[in-house]
Amino acid sequence: MSSPFTVTRGQIVARGLSNCCPNCGARTLFKEGSLFRLNAECRDCGLKFERKNDEGFFLGSMSLNYGVTIVTFLVPVMLLAWQKVIGVTPAIVIAGIGSIVVPALLYRSSRSWWLMNYYVFLPHHLPANGGTGHAGEDDNV
Ligand SMILES: [Zn+2]
Repeated sequence: MSSPFTVTRGQIVARGLSNCCPNCGARTLFKEGSLFRLNAECRDCGLKFERKNDEGFFLGSMSLNYGVTIVTFLVPVMLLAWQKVIGVTPAIVIAGIGSIVVPALLYRSSRSWWLMNYYVFLPHHLPANGGTGHAGEDDNV
């Protein structure tokens, strides 16, 4: 069965996992030379990453980031302490340091994953699929 979209959900997932623009696939999500500064829009296709009327859009990426940190780092450290593989004090220190370092390491990916998550569920919002790429596209206003 073929997809009705120019950019398929599979492409959106692949682009999201590789920190690329979900619309055109270019590596334009972040400013060159910067680890944490998101471009306002894709310099290749113009898809807006930052949304002027939806400042809370990327709060979801923070939630995703914390969730991944808890599941992939903090729970394993807690299980190691529970199984007495490591002591409680080292586990607390490791968890404390990891709860700061791991989210920082996942920052770029979590932004990309959040965009991927949005466009996987709403692929018709991508300009390549006929959408405008703007927040509130489905609002009945
Ligand atoms: Zn693009």
